Amino acid sequence: MKVCRTIGEIRAALAPVHLSGRSVGFVPTMGYLHAGHLSLVERARAENEATVVSIFVNPTQFGPEEDFARYPRDEPRDLALCDEAGVNFVFTPDAAEMYPPGFQTYVDVTGLSQGLCGASRPGHFRGVATVVAKLFAIVQPRRAYFGEKDAQQLRVIRRLAQDLNLPVTVVPVPIIREPDGLAMSSRNVYLNAEERRAALVLYRSLLVARDLVRSGEQNAAAVAEAIRALIAAEPLARLDYLAIVDDETLAPVERIDQPTLIALAVFIGRTRLIDNVLVNP
Ligand code: AMP
Repeated sequence: MKVCRTIGEIRAALAPVHLSGRSVGFVPTMGYLHAGHLSLVERARAENEATVVSIFVNPTQFGPEEDFARYPRDEPRDLALCDEAGVNFVFTPDAAEMYPPGFQTYVDVTGLSQGLCGASRPGHFRGVATVVAKLFAIVQPRRAYFGEKDAQQLRVIRRLAQDLNLPVTVVPVPIIREPDGLAMSSRNVYLNAEERRAALVLYRSLLVARDLVRSGEQNAAAVAEAIRALIAAEPLARLDYLAIVDDETLAPVERIDQPTLIALAVFIGRTRLIDNVLVNP
């Protein structure tokens, strides 16, 4: 496995791969890797001749009051996990490499970035879309792998690739969960024992919502009410947003009669967690 810290190095390392026409699968991450990330790697390995993982805590996608400075980092562990997983190239630049003095070009996926996490985290998806566009230009992958855990991000990136005619296939990968249902996330490390237990309310309320839809409930307001009641009953939880939206456009729906994404963000103490389920009546 080759570890590259500059754009020049990763370009030079990948040049022979591209020249020989071998397919490159790409998994962008912010590191502190867990089984969710590794499932993207596994998928990339299965479908491509070479696998690239990027590890970059991207400053432009964090708000001024957010956790950029304390976001968990453990490079030696991440590199060992990548090596074990059969990754061929790791690209782990520093912020100055990606955003040198004079940087002033941003990518804005205007519509899809607006609601859900985009409403609670202004500028977040502009940072995400910009860094992913840059990473695609640097790595030039044939396929790139994104987790359904970040449902809005996946749709923003898909739109970005389509709108800018980028020659990359965006591949969605299902959410990996802890045995008790909590969606794996690098941020779960912030939770103390009590918060870790309280964090189960996200998936538990989404499952209740899914069961309601399965048993015939089509009124989005009724489903929302059930979720809100469960979150309100958990003293350590505070709902940031709940969205019941069209799976494709992310526009709010009143009736759940098409593929519908139920997504939420919940503060557990100071830690903001997200989760979602797709319901298809
Ligand atoms: P992050 O390092 O949190 O930016 O995540 C990097 C990629 O891993 C994104 O495409 C995420 O959607 C994906 N990912 C994170 N957590 C999970 C999970 N629990 N299951 C599946 N994919 C995940």
